[in-house]
Amino acid sequence: MSENDLIYSFAREHVILASGLVALMVPQTLGAGIGVKDLDGRYQLANGAMKKLFGKRFEQITGMTDAELFPPEVARQLQQSDQNIRSGATTSSDNLDFFVNGERVQCLLFKFPVHGPDGQVLFIGVVMLETARLDNLESMQKSLESLQHTNQELQKNLVELSQLASTDKLTGAWNRRRLEEALVSEMDRLKRYDHPLSMLILDIDFFKKVNDVYGHIVGDQVLVTLAKVLQSNLRASDTLTRWGGEEFVVLCPDTILGTVTMLAERLRENVAKAPFSEVGQVTISVGVAECMVDEAWEDWFKRADAALYRAKEGGRNQVQIAPQAPERDGADKNMTANLVRLSWHATYECGNPVIDEQHRGLFADANNLLGAVLSARPEAEVAEQVNTLVTDVVLHFKAEEGIIRAAGYPGADAHAAIHSALVDKAVRLVKHFHEGTLSIGELFQFLARDVVARHMLGADREFFAYLQPKPKF
Ligand code: GH3
Ligand code: MG
Ligand code: MG
Repeated sequence: MSENDLIYSFAREHVILASGLVALMVPQTLGAGIGVKDLDGRYQLANGAMKKLFGKRFEQITGMTDAELFPPEVARQLQQSDQNIRSGATTSSDNLDFFVNGERVQCLLFKFPVHGPDGQVLFIGVVMLETARLDNLESMQKSLESLQHTNQELQKNLVELSQLASTDKLTGAWNRRRLEEALVSEMDRLKRYDHPLSMLILDIDFFKKVNDVYGHIVGDQVLVTLAKVLQSNLRASDTLTRWGGEEFVVLCPDTILGTVTMLAERLRENVAKAPFSEVGQVTISVGVAECMVDEAWEDWFKRADAALYRAKEGGRNQVQIAPQAPERDGADKNMTANLVRLSWHATYECGNPVIDEQHRGLFADANNLLGAVLSARPEAEVAEQVNTLVTDVVLHFKAEEGIIRAAGYPGADAHAAIHSALVDKAVRLVKHFHEGTLSIGELFQFLARDVVARHMLGADREFFAYLQPKPKF
């Protein structure tokens, strides 16, 4: 466990303690009524003094709201202060004057938020003090405020500590530890759902010279500026990590090799254009690699690093792409072909092996077709892909109709009608294709929107329940 881990867990525990402390201390020292309400305004806890005040037993107060305990005009007043606490007020106090069982009660009612470890308001704390005890009031308010203050301090520290433990002090970029955390879930998404995942690794060119000529402090400033330039050119889902010295890693979820290559090129260009005050121009060399299914982080990183090395060897200020190994035929030649594709997701499965297999097959057909069109393959080749897709769609629809009828799905006829409309549309697109008027946008719309989004993920889901394998026990 690192020092940061220790401080982090220490702070976490104490924030929780401080919240509870308020509830523990006040009733013992002052004999005030105290309760804790959930955010819906139902009492979860009430101490003896509070129960006595209302002449109720504990189990009676639990679950009750102010509207049930207080007269209507008082309840309204309390509702407002509840709302203030829910929306971030740190304390509130109400002067109350009402009758319980014919007896007049005059009291002050304080509220305070009870925070959870992530700073969210979990409960509303309530302290009731009869005005007869007013001499205690000031000390109580003080102790409440100081506890509240302590809680906030700890809360702030906790947020800072958790950032500290996961970011690099100089540049604010993630540190290795944070990247490693993110890698676990991202690589899992790749393996489970086939979501693509890419990275780039970059290194400043001739950085030693910057230090030698301008000194270490200016060198540090260059790192800070570089991180800013990089961050401002990344998409929201990309993350920047300072891997070491003057080396950075960008992790790009849901990104294939073609896209990460374009991103790398954009970063390289914008860094070269950016002003680095005293130093003037700074350039970077970049290696990019898409993670392969079943590839270990170390191997993936090694491929990206080897590409970076080639960028340095090749003269610096450039991007190099790591080949996918084993090399897929033509995979890197047709970079744009990889940019538009449908990616399969485990939740698309309905549980029927025939239908699932065919759905996957249609995804592959659609991707082949999109790839062929985008990389401007010869017309005969594209025609063959169109043919394959349409044939497979028709076969699949037939098979699916048979299966859902056999499973007793009551909407089978309506579903078959949707199929037949989709086939009509496909036939129209094929005609456009042969007339040379099929646009790639039209094709993608049909495949991605009509067939996948609306049909496979829309209409098809309605019969999923009829096809689920029966539970084994
Ligand atoms: P190239 O990468 O183009 O091959 O040349 P380079 O000069 O950048 O290569 P090298 O990796 O040998 O040198 C990196 C230098 O980066 C060495 C080190 O002094 C400097 N450096 C590493 N971390 C920091 C840092 O946090 N601040 C400063 N100012 N310099 C750093
Ligand atoms: Mg360098
Ligand atoms: Mg280096």
